[in-house]
Amino acid sequence: MSSALRKEYLAALGLETWTLRGPAAASEPVAAPFDEPVPLVAAAPRETAQRDEVAPGDATAPREAAPREAAYDWPQLRERVAACTRCGLSATRTQTVFGVGNLQAEWLVVGEAPGAEEDRQGEPFVGRAGQLLNAMLRAIGLKREQVYIANVLKCRPPQNRDPVAAETMECLPFLDRQIALLRPKIMLVVGRIAAQNLLRTDAKLGALRQQVHSFGAAGVPLVVTYHPAYLLRSPAEKRKAWEDLKFAREVFARG
Ligand code: URA
Repeated sequence: MSSALRKEYLAALGLETWTLRGPAAASEPVAAPFDEPVPLVAAAPRETAQRDEVAPGDATAPREAAPREAAYDWPQLRERVAACTRCGLSATRTQTVFGVGNLQAEWLVVGEAPGAEEDRQGEPFVGRAGQLLNAMLRAIGLKREQVYIANVLKCRPPQNRDPVAAETMECLPFLDRQIALLRPKIMLVVGRIAAQNLLRTDAKLGALRQQVHSFGAAGVPLVVTYHPAYLLRSPAEKRKAWEDLKFAREVFARG
């Protein structure tokens, strides 16, 4: 992407860009905190809380879709998710939120769980956090339609409470199958809960970002960054998220 085009994206994000003066000057904008609030289309409740639940298990062991999911194609999987009653969230959801995007996508974005707006619309990241996610993707030259977006949980936890271990355990095989069907070239995981569940660790998000993790038997490169809902609450962290996005773009470019 040309530096002019990147600047345009950053301006659209409300990001300030600085260029180094003198001999060290580079075309890449230095540290671009997402300082301006993302325009709100609809008032939505807080979408993701800080969560404490950690999935148990070995952080390094690859996890494949459980046998019951492993044979499903996309339509079958979508059907299974829609009919799922494996945990109590099925009783409180409006509808399941399967995932959205390009089935040939090279980028897979994984979040935590649907919020109120997602539960209403049946699509991930359509509330305020989703707007910021779209802007974050645009900042690295990706359109929402180009990527695939899914969550660890397919149903909204009431009041957006933290998922409990039993819920993630029941639901993760669906995401595992989505990953197996999609075969992404890179996974961008947003937020601590999604990262901890996918990497099977209780490490803090700060310790997980800025490194390339490997997911599953296929060894899909996985990069972790902050959840957009967290960035809306803590705008000072947008600078670090921007570093993560650039890092992910580099990892992808390296192949
Ligand atoms: N937060 C998430 O993690 N996922 C969504 O789909 C919406 C908000």
